[in-house]
Amino acid sequence: MSGSRDINQNRQLNAPYRGENYRQMTPEQAAAESRRRAEARMAEQRRRLADDMRRRKAEKQRKRVITGAITVFAALALIIIVTVIAVSMALKSKNNTGVPVDVTTLDPFAPNIETDADGNVILPDLGDIIEETDVTADIPAEIPENPIDEVTEAVTEPPAETTWENYTFNFKADLSIYEEYMNPQGDEYLTLINSTHTLDKNYVPDDLVDIIDTRKDGRATQQIRLYAAKSLEAFLTEARAQGFDDISVTSGYRDYNYQSQLFNARLLQYSYLGDEKAYAAASQIVAVPGTSEHQSGLCCDMHNLPAADVSFADTPAGQWMAANCHKFGFIIRFPADKIEITGITFEPWHFRYVGRYHACKMYERGLCLEEYWASLGRA
Ligand SMILES: [Zn+2]
Repeated sequence: MSGSRDINQNRQLNAPYRGENYRQMTPEQAAAESRRRAEARMAEQRRRLADDMRRRKAEKQRKRVITGAITVFAALALIIIVTVIAVSMALKSKNNTGVPVDVTTLDPFAPNIETDADGNVILPDLGDIIEETDVTADIPAEIPENPIDEVTEAVTEPPAETTWENYTFNFKADLSIYEEYMNPQGDEYLTLINSTHTLDKNYVPDDLVDIIDTRKDGRATQQIRLYAAKSLEAFLTEARAQGFDDISVTSGYRDYNYQSQLFNARLLQYSYLGDEKAYAAASQIVAVPGTSEHQSGLCCDMHNLPAADVSFADTPAGQWMAANCHKFGFIIRFPADKIEITGITFEPWHFRYVGRYHACKMYERGLCLEEYWASLGRA
C-alpha cells in the first residue's frame, strides 16, 4: 500500500494541476493542495504588484529627470537672452553718449555717405528739417530720402533774383501797344558812353529804325534803335495828347564819321585859341568822336525851337518833357546840376533811352547816369 501511495505522490508532484488530480487525493490532501495553490497565487500577485510599483517608480524618476533637464535648459536660454539684450542696450547707450561709431557697419547700404579729409563720416545736420516738421502731428512729417543732398543743394542754389519793380502809369493816350518797349526787363539799354567809356569807331547798332517824328525841314529822316524809337513814339503821342503838338526830333543816330565832322568843324571854329584850347572848347560843345551817345542809337535831340537852346527848359513843353520822360523810359542825360559829373553843359533837349525801370530809379533818386552806374557798383 505504501508503495502505491509513493507512486501516487510522485505522480501527483510531477503531474500538471488538473482537476482530476483532486479526485485522487484525500480531502486533507486536497485542502492542503488548495491552500498551497492559493498561497502561490498570492505570492505571484505580490510579485506583480512589486514589479508594477518598481516600474511606476522608475517612470516617475525618468519624468523627473526630463523635467529637470528642460527646466535647466529653459533657465539657461533665458539667461542668454537677458544677457544679449542687456549688452545691446549698453552698446546703444554708449553710442548716444558720443562714442564714435562706424556708420558704414550700421548700414552698409546707406546712400552717399560723405567723409571729411580725415575719413570721418559726416553726419547730416537735420536741424532745419526737424524745425520744419509739425511736432504736434501723430505721424512725423516725411523726411527727405537723402538729407545730405538736400542740404548741399540748398547751399549751392543761386540767390533769388532781385525783384524787378514794375512801374505802371496812366496816360491820356492809349499807349498799351508800346508798353513792352517802354518797359524792357534788364539793363541792355543802360550802356554808359562818355569821355572815359567810349564806343569803337566801327560800332553801328543793328536795329536802327526811322523816327517818324523827325523834323520836316528837309533833313534826312533820323534813326534810333527799335526799342528807343517805339518808346519815343509813345512819348510824343502822349505829348500831343497833353497839348504839346510841335515837338520834333532834330537828331538821332550819328555814325563815327559824322561825329568827327561835327567835332572838326568846332575845332576849326576855335583854332584861333591854339590847338590845346581849341580841343578843350570844341569837346565841351560837341562830343569827341567815340564819346557821343548819338553813336549808340539810344538818344535823340528834340524840342520845339528853331535851334536847340537851354531856354527850352523854361517852355511848358520843355518842363512837361523833363517831368514825364522817365515814364517812357527816357532821362535828361545832361542835367543842369550835374555838369561837374557829366562834363557836358546842360542839354534840356537831349533825351537818352535806358528803359522805364532805370529811368524811374534815376528820377526818384535824382541821379545822372554816371551816378546811377556808381550806385550799382559799376566802374
Ligand atoms: Zn544830343
